[in-house]
Amino acid sequence: MKKVNFLPSDDNQCGWFHLSDQRQATPSHTGTTSTRWTVVGAGLTGLAAARRLAEHFPDDEIILLEAQEVGYGSSGRNSGFAIDLPHNIGASDYIGDPTQAGMQLKLNLKAQNSIKQLVEQHHIECQLSTAGKYQAAVEPRGLSVLKAYQQGLDKLEQDYQLISESELPDHLGTRFYKKALYTPGTLLLQPAALVKGLANALPKNVSLYENTPVSSVEYGKKITLHHLHGQIVTDQLLLTNNAFASHFGFLPRKILPIFTYASLTRVLSADEQHDLGGLPHWGVIPADPFGSTLRRTPDNRILVRNSLSFNPSGQHNPSFLRKALKRHRLSFENRFPMLSQVDFEYTWGGAMGLTRNHQGHFGPLATNVHAAVGCNGLGITRGTSTGTLLADWIAGDHNELIDFLLTSSGPSANPPEPLLSLGINFSLHRGQHRAGKEC
Ligand SMILES: Cc1cc2nc3c(=O)[nH]c(=O)nc-3n(C[C@H](O)[C@H](O)[C@H](O)COP(=O)(O)OP(=O)(O)OC[C@H]3O[C@@H](n4cnc5c(N)ncnc54)[C@H](O)[C@@H]3O)c2cc1C
Repeated sequence: MKKVNFLPSDDNQCGWFHLSDQRQATPSHTGTTSTRWTVVGAGLTGLAAARRLAEHFPDDEIILLEAQEVGYGSSGRNSGFAIDLPHNIGASDYIGDPTQAGMQLKLNLKAQNSIKQLVEQHHIECQLSTAGKYQAAVEPRGLSVLKAYQQGLDKLEQDYQLISESELPDHLGTRFYKKALYTPGTLLLQPAALVKGLANALPKNVSLYENTPVSSVEYGKKITLHHLHGQIVTDQLLLTNNAFASHFGFLPRKILPIFTYASLTRVLSADEQHDLGGLPHWGVIPADPFGSTLRRTPDNRILVRNSLSFNPSGQHNPSFLRKALKRHRLSFENRFPMLSQVDFEYTWGGAMGLTRNHQGHFGPLATNVHAAVGCNGLGITRGTSTGTLLADWIAGDHNELIDFLLTSSGPSANPPEPLLSLGINFSLHRGQHRAGKEC
């Protein structure tokens, strides 16, 4: 019997979760159920996998288990950039090998199409827009990343627009940045509203049980998942629980729960919107990966995301949240001195499943156990496509995207504790320090 030592426990301050429509969580699972298919983790990856399995096997019941409520985990906590382009922060030009980058682009476009189609079909109100993204820089290091990224985009034959320091205030209001590279293909959205909507629209043969954390597992020809009020005996298990996969006994120390943090202001008044200037709605990602992500939302709030911490349990830590809030305030006031009186209404954190070599795991883990985990901070598109393709592969489909994922090297190994924590904390500290004003 494998005990799951740590269960998800996120803070209760995620603005996206509270500002999206309330929904009644589905009941927790109780008693004993035998089934053919069980998916663990109802984030973007698990929702996509369960939906697709249900389409492949319309006569089977698909059980989808979620430890918290849908939208409460990282899939509802992110900055809402559904990015089309490869975003390989391990490569100097963010693109890396062009063949791999081309496949990554196909995966991301597949996910975007699926999100757009489901949002339209099920009338999901999640502020979805084709606003694109600005990758912006202020420090010399960031400016050289933009130059390299520009070359990478040329290599991939992708459209972009370079925006100079003097033009940027007309786009973003702020005079903070020296240059930006605008790419038009990113979708921006309200992530908690999206996943809540996707959960409400699951096919009839998916049984979603929320607030049902799996606390131990017996592996074998059949797999038994135990939780506080019962058990599920399943023929096939799909793990889509991202940073928590290692607690199920797989990929030890390979998918690292690195937390990042976001704050959202109150709604800007009409005068404040006027003082800010720029376009009504935009998203900025930093040239330096340790810098700040920003958004001006369609309902006129500003989002700031930065700060990273290693929380080995995968659970939130209030002291890291307090530190992040201080940094958010500083980053916000540096960029928007005209809004210095505007308070944050919400500040929260969430786990990303990061891997050392930026590769996720896709495919088999053990007999009758399969996984799509390790989204590396890009789960909106990557999770949506890998969840769908995992179900396709299990159903016997083959195509170039499945082959690409199955032949990827997968996440690389890391040293054991205490070296692991020492190494990661050192890298995070150095990266955040080096980011300078980008943060
Ligand atoms: C602040 C922040 C900003 C980000 N910004 C972006 C962005 O702009 N764009 C982007 O693409 N990505 C972004 N990310 C990353 C993105 O949120 C993740 O990549 C994405 O959530 C991964 O989706 P997932 O479904 O694979 O995993 P998750 O969303 O982590 O879902 C896994 C689910 O498994 C459940 N679970 C775990 N263990 C158990 C158990 N024992 N029993 C039952 N259920 C369990 C968890 O509760 C969770 O809901 C950001 C993340 C954060 C925190």
